[in-house]
Amino acid sequence: MSLIISDILDHLHINDTNEAFSTSSNWGSSPEAEVKEIFSPTDGKKIASVKFATADEYNSVVETAAKAFKTWRSIPAPKRGEIVRQIGEQLRANKKELGTLVSYEMGKSLQEGYGEVQEMIDICDFAVGLSRQLYGLSMHSERPSHRMYEQYHPLGIVGVISAFNFPVAVWSWNAALAWVCGDVCIWKPSEKTPLTAIACQHIAQQVFKANNIDEGVSCLIIGGREIGELMANDTRVPLVSATGSTRMGKAVSAAVGARLGKSLLELGGNNAIIISEQADLDMSLIGAVFGAVGTAGQRCTSTRRLIIHESVYDAFKQKLVNAYKQIKIGNPLDENNHMGPLIDQDAVSLYLASIEKCKAEGGNFVVEGGKLEGDAYASGCYVKPCIAEVENHYEIVQHETFAPILYLIKYKTLEEAIELQNSVPQGLSSAIMTQNLREAETFLSAAGSDCGIANVNIGTSGAEIGGAFGGEKETGGGRESGSDAWKVYMRRQTNTINYSKTLPLAQGIKFDL
Ligand code: NAD
Repeated sequence: MSLIISDILDHLHINDTNEAFSTSSNWGSSPEAEVKEIFSPTDGKKIASVKFATADEYNSVVETAAKAFKTWRSIPAPKRGEIVRQIGEQLRANKKELGTLVSYEMGKSLQEGYGEVQEMIDICDFAVGLSRQLYGLSMHSERPSHRMYEQYHPLGIVGVISAFNFPVAVWSWNAALAWVCGDVCIWKPSEKTPLTAIACQHIAQQVFKANNIDEGVSCLIIGGREIGELMANDTRVPLVSATGSTRMGKAVSAAVGARLGKSLLELGGNNAIIISEQADLDMSLIGAVFGAVGTAGQRCTSTRRLIIHESVYDAFKQKLVNAYKQIKIGNPLDENNHMGPLIDQDAVSLYLASIEKCKAEGGNFVVEGGKLEGDAYASGCYVKPCIAEVENHYEIVQHETFAPILYLIKYKTLEEAIELQNSVPQGLSSAIMTQNLREAETFLSAAGSDCGIANVNIGTSGAEIGGAFGGEKETGGGRESGSDAWKVYMRRQTNTINYSKTLPLAQGIKFDL
């Protein structure tokens, strides 16, 4: 295993001391730069050391990006799309290695690591087509011989702050779109997963270099929340796209809002599946279990709550208990395992504390949780997925615990189920399992789910890049990825052209000299 990992690290240019860089210039060499060791949650071994940036280095990265913007914005959008196409090709060529590193550094299953890289490839493909479709509207002017239309221009520097759980895909959702829109990006990945970010930066930079494009179009800056705070307060960064906890989003939103900048927020979820009395229970089981234990419950779209009709509650609970006995937990690089570790030991402590809190509030655990011990779990990051019967109003249930804890809640009527589903502060993903058209359409109606994502006969977890992705309420209201999410990366300009020989004013106002 370790030999394969070392080959992969070599292939992706991950060395023992990675001097995290912005472009070809090496800013990681500052004597003040703090060096941090990065360990894998899968086996607890050190992967590499990374230099974290100082505030001065942050400033020089912003200057590098600002300079690159001046040339990048003038390159025609379809030509920018061609560069993104080539980045997609490089991701295809490196899918296995990058996917494996995602799995090793973050701890998600190998299949999910590959899937994350596939998402990057998909968004590149999407962005290539988009580069020829950055449409504005044209409208009829009320004045004779006038033409009025709107067009979209790039914003400038897009700051991307990303979370550990999708260490590379979130960057690509932002960067691929921002680049075809003519923006340049500065990426601050999670301090917990910097190595996959360095690997991506290498891949992108090879393409920019081969095309003689200023490498400042894609900047990387490794650091903790202080670097994110600098970005949020920086007037040179017109758009900050931040993915992470609601706590982080509130801080970023306040800082960006105070300077009247734009923010795109993708924050925590507290996602529920309603299991109707008319659900296909076998299908529902797969959706619920994958949603709850996939990525060890560390997806923003993970299923946290099951709202189950009273008539099928006991039968479905029994199916879940049986299914949880089959779940194999262990090294995520072993494809026989369903579930890998949590990201670190702090996450394990939070998981254990949440279980205790749930019990104190009255939760009844039908599948017990706990930390796993033994050689196979030597990193100290492996836990058991667990299930508790609860009431929706418990404080712990209202809160997103980023771990495989699944809550069961009983309902009598669909209206009550929708009310329960909506009665949490977050609004990311939701689903109903039903074969009844009336139930499905009610759930999708204005009186139904209040989430950004509402599915029928699909779980809450995962999404295709073609749709706009994001959620309401404490999830932050942002939309990324497909549909018309690109508009947030551009500024809209309305143009009116007078080709007459007079200067008529709008609303018929007379002003003669
Ligand atoms: P986190 O909030 O701890 O950190 C996310 C990023 O924000 C990191 O890069 C971190 O350095 C930075 N950061 C933290 N505080 C900051 C501040 N005050 N100012 C600027 N930057 C700051 O989140 P995490 O633990 O890495 O990720 C898990 C969270 O992310 C969960 O809540 C999950 O639901 C959420 N998430 C949401 C989505 C989505 O699309 N809605 C996707 C992935 C993850």
